[in-house]
Amino acid sequence: MLAIKIIFQLLFTLLFRRKKLPETIDKIDIQLTQKVSDAERLKTVSLLNKIFGTRIVRWIMEFFLCKASKGEFIEINNADFIKRYQRYIPETDERISWTNWANTQKSQPLKYYIPGNGPHVKVIETYQQLGDYDFKGLKEIQGIVTDAEEKGLRVRCVASGHSLSDIAVTGDFMISTKKMTRPQRRANQPYIKEKFRNGYTSYIHKDTQVIPEKRYLFETGAGTLLEDLKQILEKEGLAFANMGGSDVQGFMGAASTSTHGSGIGLKPFPDMIASMVLVGSHGKAYRLEPADGITDPSVYAASEEYQTHGIELIQDDDLFYSSTVSMGCFGVIFSVVIEVVDFYYLKEERIPGTWEEERQKLASLGLNYIRKNRHFELAVNPYPVNDKGELDKVNGKRYCIVTTRNIIPKPAAKQDNTSSEKRNFLSSLASGLYFVGSISVFLFNKKPANIPRSISSSLKRIVDCDKQGGGYSDKYYNVLNQGLLEMKFFGYASEMAFTMQDDTYLKAIDKILDESVRMAEEYGQYNPSPIAIRFTDDSHSYLSMMHNMAACSIEVVSLKGFIGGENFQRRIEREMIAFNGRPHWGLHLESLSFDRIEKLYPKLPVWLQAYKKFNQSRVFNNSFTDRTGISAVLGQQEAFLE
Ligand SMILES: Cc1cc2nc3c(=O)[nH]c(=O)nc-3n(C[C@H](O)[C@H](O)[C@H](O)COP(=O)(O)OP(=O)(O)OC[C@H]3O[C@@H](n4cnc5c(N)ncnc54)[C@H](O)[C@@H]3O)c2cc1C
Repeated sequence: MLAIKIIFQLLFTLLFRRKKLPETIDKIDIQLTQKVSDAERLKTVSLLNKIFGTRIVRWIMEFFLCKASKGEFIEINNADFIKRYQRYIPETDERISWTNWANTQKSQPLKYYIPGNGPHVKVIETYQQLGDYDFKGLKEIQGIVTDAEEKGLRVRCVASGHSLSDIAVTGDFMISTKKMTRPQRRANQPYIKEKFRNGYTSYIHKDTQVIPEKRYLFETGAGTLLEDLKQILEKEGLAFANMGGSDVQGFMGAASTSTHGSGIGLKPFPDMIASMVLVGSHGKAYRLEPADGITDPSVYAASEEYQTHGIELIQDDDLFYSSTVSMGCFGVIFSVVIEVVDFYYLKEERIPGTWEEERQKLASLGLNYIRKNRHFELAVNPYPVNDKGELDKVNGKRYCIVTTRNIIPKPAAKQDNTSSEKRNFLSSLASGLYFVGSISVFLFNKKPANIPRSISSSLKRIVDCDKQGGGYSDKYYNVLNQGLLEMKFFGYASEMAFTMQDDTYLKAIDKILDESVRMAEEYGQYNPSPIAIRFTDDSHSYLSMMHNMAACSIEVVSLKGFIGGENFQRRIEREMIAFNGRPHWGLHLESLSFDRIEKLYPKLPVWLQAYKKFNQSRVFNNSFTDRTGISAVLGQQEAFLE
């Protein structure tokens, strides 16, 4: 009944009152949020999404919307986004045109390779047959590298292409890592030290406590997608210790930029790596490990890996911790042995609050407050909103959601799936109506002053905790996945990490919030998303954003097509220089100077020594190394090729 009423309201507006479309969407939003129960809202939204998902209805809506927008083309069909997301460009002799997922970077490489002999889809179905090491694939890569060197060209890996920055871009030889999905096996080869072969206890230092944790080693092809790997691990009774909000990345694509989740006791992806096989310049292959690595050098010296395939074992802290976050600049990482944990379940609560209260708790209790939960993160409306839903610096409060997640025993029965569906700000924009993804950009552009209220309403819709809704319990990866649904196609983000050794991170957040309000008040420039605040343990990797510091990462999300969104993010990135913010290697827009990288990363000189060793021939440089001045370290600065 409600669905019919909403369709009628929309049709009437599109036919006779197009100018009033923003108000109508607002009214629909209020009806769905405030006038009906959660269950009825989700049922209605699901029905409407089905109806609006049909091609004919989409065409009709697009036709009237384009008329309403007077020349601006509004497309509510997200098939193109989905195609790009699922895209797999097969190997071809023809030239290809590559774009990253967000369509912010383009490459037209001279050659496009997909080396490796693993499957690129449904790896889970055949993983038990993928136990053997893919020496043939390794050789292919060595050949591509030496061929490029002979021709004076460059080589760059691309995994899922989910980085917003230009780190995967190349105009020369592009290597897709999609078929680098072998081996998939427990790491218990004879050269692995006995004590690591069948699980071992690792001791984690937390404050004054030493906590034992059971760990296992698993070897995987570096191109394996996280969504495949999490399922393979599950079949083995294993799990990642933590994940980010999405699982679309390749394993080494994620680790290379220090992708992370939230949890002050949990390290980012690169810290899972115990050993890796890297093809460096001149096609030389290395097995890299820290000084006290998992491999027994004397046994390894007699192994097929070394004797037949010449993979040289290097156990050296500086070379290893430089390579785990090397953004494709050291070569092609072919396989990794990762540390994983026993499979687990999580319970998530999304608790309503205000930034004013949360800031006070963080300032007075600091890390102790965050440590109370295994995972802790915040989504904060940057705009203080009063009871009337207006931006109000004096009487308004910044609404926020505190998300906590903790390990629980396996839940008795599967919950209804409503909790898993309404878990992200984006997926609850305009009540979660999927067609509103495109329309909301149009509406926000037309009525930006509605943004503060709209953010609060969307956040209120995802509340789910013991007191309200019961929370969400499931397999760890379902809980950690942010439930972006189709809405992931409309957002893009920029992120910076700050030290938690003092209150710098709080000052950085204050600045972002102040700047958000100032831009809104002085120029009508809003940003259509909450600020996401996550916490991570320090990383061993020398160029991880979390290196040597427990970190607070602050993410500013915008919507594709939102006017001024990118400029707003760039402005915030520039403002954060004063707070020594370390930009996420995959999620930044502003260029980084060599001096700035040097200031932010004390271990840069050591990292550069490793870069010189593995990239002697400069074959792994690209526009990212050129613009940051990293290429120049190897001597002559090359022409900007990309
Ligand atoms: C929807 C979405 C959600 C995200 N969520 C999070 C999050 O929760 N937390 C977070 O920290 N970040 C997040 N990010 C950022 C993302 O995780 C990083 O940008 C990540 O690097 C992208 O992984 P990818 O597989 O797409 O790698 P790509 O972008 O393809 O490549 C990244 C880098 O890795 C290099 N590389 C890839 N494979 C290899 C290899 N085998 N050998 C050597 N170098 C290699 C590439 O050359 C490139 O330099 C998200 C991004 C998106 C679009």
